[in-house]
Amino acid sequence: MPSTTVPPLTDTEVRALREDFPLLTGTEVMGAPLVYLDSGATAQKPLAVLDAEREFYLHRNAAVHRGAHTLAVEATDAYEEARRVVAGFVGAGERELVWTSNATEGLNLIAYAFSNATAGRGGQAAERFRLRPGDEIVTTEAEHHANLIPWQELAARTGASLRWIPVDGTGQLDHEAAARVIGERTKVVAFTHVSNVTGALTDVPALVELARETGALTVLDACQSVPHLPVDLPGLGVDLAVFSGHKMLGPTGIGALWGRTELLDAMPPFLTGGSMITRVTMEEAEYLPAPARFEAGTQRIAQTVALAEAVRYLRAVGMERVAAHEHALGQRLAEGIADLEGVRLIGPPPGADRVGLAAVDVAGVHAHDVGQVLDAAGVAVRVGHHCAQPLHRALGLTATTRASTYLYTTAEDVDRFLAELAGVRSYFG
Ligand code: PLP
Repeated sequence: MPSTTVPPLTDTEVRALREDFPLLTGTEVMGAPLVYLDSGATAQKPLAVLDAEREFYLHRNAAVHRGAHTLAVEATDAYEEARRVVAGFVGAGERELVWTSNATEGLNLIAYAFSNATAGRGGQAAERFRLRPGDEIVTTEAEHHANLIPWQELAARTGASLRWIPVDGTGQLDHEAAARVIGERTKVVAFTHVSNVTGALTDVPALVELARETGALTVLDACQSVPHLPVDLPGLGVDLAVFSGHKMLGPTGIGALWGRTELLDAMPPFLTGGSMITRVTMEEAEYLPAPARFEAGTQRIAQTVALAEAVRYLRAVGMERVAAHEHALGQRLAEGIADLEGVRLIGPPPGADRVGLAAVDVAGVHAHDVGQVLDAAGVAVRVGHHCAQPLHRALGLTATTRASTYLYTTAEDVDRFLAELAGVRSYFG
């Protein structure tokens, strides 16, 4: 990461934080205390987040933006206040943040805006989203499938071509190749901020500059960065970005799409129906400006309120300190793995920037077997292709074992993972 001047969380602070997470206190797996190293997939939730969701249902439950009764007004206030809190967390204004179910839905929403515009929807305002024969969509070989398949589908629907920036032998983006892939015909460049397999950080300004030279829009998958680093989305220079609430201490079923207001207002909507219109006749409808134009139907209200509580929790700890803590854990993981014989570390070498996430290939042992040995010792990791098959294929692998940390992860958790990993090869003889 991200050079930082703030100190990492102390061991005492992390142990105190863990008391806020019911699942992390006292849970045993196979008779051993749980070591949860799968926060990259989904984070555990502090009691304050669980309470916020329950409190909403107990005292403020009503549909938003519809009723004139007091409860509906209170629910609407809570919903919009949550938007302000979450938008502020990523440096954005409230009109710039659209609620989605998760990052995957946000990316599909953007891809469908392009195809709807290409089909002629959205009038002159949607011109920047219109694709023509010969136009190119650029993504990268390091993407989670959520930031690849929607673009494949968009290419198939519109006739545009899909191109990608390749990865190098460590699974990191070949930034030099980017200049050859992004060109005059590029209309959109979609890339991840932090890889969910390598833990590497993308050089966002470099890709934004290349995209700007050609007038292409940029779409950032901030799923693995917003939960772990201080992120100012407008400051990064990208045009659109997505992230998921469940990876940042929030509930499942809620995520967000960020974009500058003028861009969102120009995007043709993805889902249509109630709550997103100004006027409807039997022939046609006119749409509200953003964010409402993208929030058709009854929304995930309690989940937005709980996500705002998660953001308050992260803010109280301080994102600089969370990042410093996870940077230290990421280095501990990388260094410990590098010392193990027959275990290949994917991504940046020890000493290089990475978040608290590391994937490994254990020579001669399938990742699912590695995961089983670790699980038997109470260590929860993710095994498989982590929804990044092209990246694994580029590395000559089908599956890896991934450990990922969060603010509640201790150095002892990492050491237990490393100790169990060290024993895996001897276990399989
Ligand atoms: N992008 C990245 C980098 C991810 O790590 C993930 C989830 O693992 C996603 C996108 C998809 O997130 P969700 O499943 O919450 O939509």
